Amino acid sequence: ELPYIYVITPTYARSVQKAELTRIANTFSHIKNLHWIVVEDSDERTNLTTHFLFHCGINYTHLHIRSIEHKRRGVEQRNIGLAWLRHNREPNVSRGVVYFADDDNTYSIEIFEEMRYTKKVSIWPVGLTFEARYETPIIGPDNKVKSWHAWHSTERKFATDMAGFAINLNLLLNNPHVWFDNTTRDGFLESSLLSQLVELNDLEPKADNCTKVLVWHTKTITPVFSEDKTWNLEI
Ligand code: UDP
Ligand code: MN
Repeated sequence: ELPYIYVITPTYARSVQKAELTRIANTFSHIKNLHWIVVEDSDERTNLTTHFLFHCGINYTHLHIRSIEHKRRGVEQRNIGLAWLRHNREPNVSRGVVYFADDDNTYSIEIFEEMRYTKKVSIWPVGLTFEARYETPIIGPDNKVKSWHAWHSTERKFATDMAGFAINLNLLLNNPHVWFDNTTRDGFLESSLLSQLVELNDLEPKADNCTKVLVWHTKTITPVFSEDKTWNLEI
């Protein structure tokens, strides 16, 4: 059977949330054997997300955990997603890959087939990363990652964005003490997680040896509404 793709998505209530969830769900609907782990940054499951998921047509698990104030980066949400996998999937029996997909990014359908057979950690370029047009691993003649074209690329051992890698499920299940670390500086989350799991040499370059951009770190503008909430359709 086709290995499963476990997509862990932190999400939180704001005016654009339903539009963001709709956009990524439309992408995920095309992917076979995808299990979507949606983790809300809230004290309880919200009605909006509950109803949205019920009707989205994708296999999903709906979790929630409220972030510590001032530390709202999706860290606890991704960790709860990992905890769920460690409780609900059996090491060396389940086959699959884990991908951390923020709700505001843009994902091509191709990237999921690139990651599906990840042995340890797959890696690929990410477009529209802050001030850079893209960030990418730099691949040597031996088809291994040599270095990075990325922000703070010399300080970060794994200078990749959250959207730029996927991890074999069993690697995470067999290393049950590996978590995202809420105490790392901004921008070092990915590197700190991957450092606990692999060496540079283990990385599996995807997307035609990292020559194609198949995911984008898009950011949605927060709208400022000029009217009162007299028109009360859910948006
Ligand atoms: N997020 C969250 N709670 C928050 C802020 C963000 O759960 O208070 C989620 C958000 O929905 C997204 C992820 O964490 O899936 C990363 O957030 P964001 O896209 O704002 O971060 P950036 O793109 O700036 O790194
Ligand atoms: Mn984002």
